[in-house]
Amino acid sequence: MPTAEIITIGTELLLGEIVDTNTRVIARALRDVGVDIYRTATVGDNAERIAEIMRESLYRAEIVITTGGLGPTVDDPTREAAALAFGVETEFRAELWEQIKDRFRHLGRIPTENNRRQAYVPQNALALENQWGTAPAFLVENEGHVLISLPGVPYEMKNLLSDKVMPYLRVHFDLQEVIKTRSLHTVGITESRIDELIDELERLDNPTVGLAAHRDSISIRITAKASSEGEAEALIDEMEGLLRALLEEWIIDLE
Ligand code: ATP
Ligand code: MG
Repeated sequence: MPTAEIITIGTELLLGEIVDTNTRVIARALRDVGVDIYRTATVGDNAERIAEIMRESLYRAEIVITTGGLGPTVDDPTREAAALAFGVETEFRAELWEQIKDRFRHLGRIPTENNRRQAYVPQNALALENQWGTAPAFLVENEGHVLISLPGVPYEMKNLLSDKVMPYLRVHFDLQEVIKTRSLHTVGITESRIDELIDELERLDNPTVGLAAHRDSISIRITAKASSEGEAEALIDEMEGLLRALLEEWIIDLE
């Protein structure tokens, strides 16, 4: 199974001006197909620093996904950084420029010379058309590893992720695994008491059972891996039955 790392790019993120929601969205999508993430990182808008972190991540992980820095201005450094990371130049793609101009026409706007920057991708990159915005995304394959660079705007990022990136990863890395989770919620019992009662179940590998304490309740998360949704649900159903048998009086059913 491949491993993945996520890099979010943007000085705004480092300054705490915006909250990084992209990592969470990507992490969940990868989790759902059984890809493990060992690290995530955030870096400012600086091509050298981005290139360095891309290289580090590509060295460790087969799949590296970045978000941000694909806009049309000079301080949108991701194309440049990706080229640096692979030791190549960026190159102009006429078909991307056509797509960008089409999109502007569609919006009744005229692209500026700056927007032409967005038609550049690293040499050997596969461009991913962005139907939801102007910045094309791209991916670069290298020795079994892949760098995938997506725009920062959450709506564009999400659409590209589900429409282009996940299908690519499924095929390319032969991802068959499905991961499903379900949570049960309890009140009136402490985490340590639950831990004592379900100790045996917490040691199992699949499904796994984990506890999370909240202000007024403790939740028990069941996570199953299987080759189909149905199989994963069946594993979870069985575990839920075992947990309910032990904890029925404390479990509350939320909508
Ligand atoms: P654009 O073409 O809009 O410039 P971009 O790919 O260059 O796109 P950024 O400029 O890095 O992306 O980010 C655009 C906007 O997307 C940010 O101002 C912010 O609102 C949002 N954004 C960027 N990164 C993230 C993130 N990690 N989580 C949530 N929102 C983000
Ligand atoms: Mg930008």
